Amino acid sequence: MIDFTLNEEQEALRGTVEDFARQVVAPVIGGYYERGEFPYEIVARMGKLGLFGLPFPEDYGGMGGDYFAFCLALHELARVDSSVAITLEAAVGLGAMPIFRFGSAAQQDRWLPDLCLGERLAAFGLTEPGGGSDIPGGMRTTAHLDGDNWVIDGSKAFITNSGTLITSVLTALAITGRSEGRLEISAIMIPAGTPGFTVGREYSKVGWCASDTRELAFSGCRVPRENLLGELGRGYAQFLQTLDEGRVAIAALAAGLAQGCVDECLRYARERTAFGHELGHYQSTQFRIADMEARAHAARLAWYDAAARLVAGEPFKKQAAIAKLTCSNAAMDNARDGTQIFGGYGYMNEFPVARFYRDAKVLEIGEGTSEVQRMVIARQLGLG
Ligand SMILES: Cc1cc2nc3c(=O)[nH]c(=O)nc-3n(C[C@H](O)[C@H](O)[C@H](O)COP(=O)(O)OP(=O)(O)OC[C@H]3O[C@@H](n4cnc5c(N)ncnc54)[C@H](O)[C@@H]3O)c2cc1C
Repeated sequence: MIDFTLNEEQEALRGTVEDFARQVVAPVIGGYYERGEFPYEIVARMGKLGLFGLPFPEDYGGMGGDYFAFCLALHELARVDSSVAITLEAAVGLGAMPIFRFGSAAQQDRWLPDLCLGERLAAFGLTEPGGGSDIPGGMRTTAHLDGDNWVIDGSKAFITNSGTLITSVLTALAITGRSEGRLEISAIMIPAGTPGFTVGREYSKVGWCASDTRELAFSGCRVPRENLLGELGRGYAQFLQTLDEGRVAIAALAAGLAQGCVDECLRYARERTAFGHELGHYQSTQFRIADMEARAHAARLAWYDAAARLVAGEPFKKQAAIAKLTCSNAAMDNARDGTQIFGGYGYMNEFPVARFYRDAKVLEIGEGTSEVQRMVIARQLGLG
């Protein structure tokens, strides 16, 4: 029999993060969101809880858990708020994970301990103003060696966690050469504050308003030769692997948002009355919430499957793309239905469902758009 039940340790983690989200995040996150302010106090408490170190070994100050545990934490956070969930997802899945997977012992020793504690955040710079889906075709950022330094020129767009007061390092993809007409692409670590590395102002976003997203520019930015992450010319492959994993994490976050809509609507359907009855008395409300629960459930199983394969070391590329597509669809549909159940209050920013509505859309865009997920699935089916 296939067992989808969480074990005792997983259930304990899930419950701890659920309590944290309800008691610490829920009461204050709306204010941060409205002010467009990064929630440093909440992030510090997430760090103390060990969330930033979940999938990393204890040697680095991590919790010695696995990627499934990390996804479980994202799911529970996103049931309450996606800004804090994406801050964790990008810091761990995109920021620290490539250093853990591909970094030298010296790079890991230098950066990972602070990242595992959540005292510092790392960012991942793939997307450029000229293209996100079309990487490497749309890439323009270059790095060349000058003596013992890389000199980086170019720009990046929409980079999460890149401009907070606690951001320590960005790993960016850059063109480092060409051989036989093909681009050689490498990943280079650029510490925050390096001269020639300019962090733009925070974008004004539709959602994820309490998370940090910036445009970045490099002009004659010099970093030591040893800041190359992994092998020369392997950067694109490293980033694709990171994105495959990241898609499972985003899927878990999206499934959490879908479940959060159910949580909110169940409560409201019992509280709100119309025409002499609770909203939940009416079959149209019951059916709408039943559909929402079905989507949240299917979404959860999709990311469980992808994460379980990832942890078991089995191929998971197709399952990751399916999970990202399925879960982001569920998040969008549940956010739309959730706001409808709340009526006018669903359109008021002070209600969580309004935040969920604003936060859901980006899940169809970030870490590979829904069209890109379909391309990946089709290719895995041998098409194209
Ligand atoms: C809030 C936020 C945070 C982000 N954080 C990060 C981050 O931390 N690091 C990072 O590197 N990036 C980050 N991104 C960037 C994100 O990954 C990209 O926005 C995404 O990959 C899409 O790229 P694009 O915006 O350039 O859109 P495009 O690639 O220009 O796509 C535009 C549209 O065309 C479609 N399209 C493109 N090519 C095809 C094709 N061949 N066939 C069919 N349709 C196609 C797309 O699906 C999309 O609908 C973030 C984005 C947002 C909004």
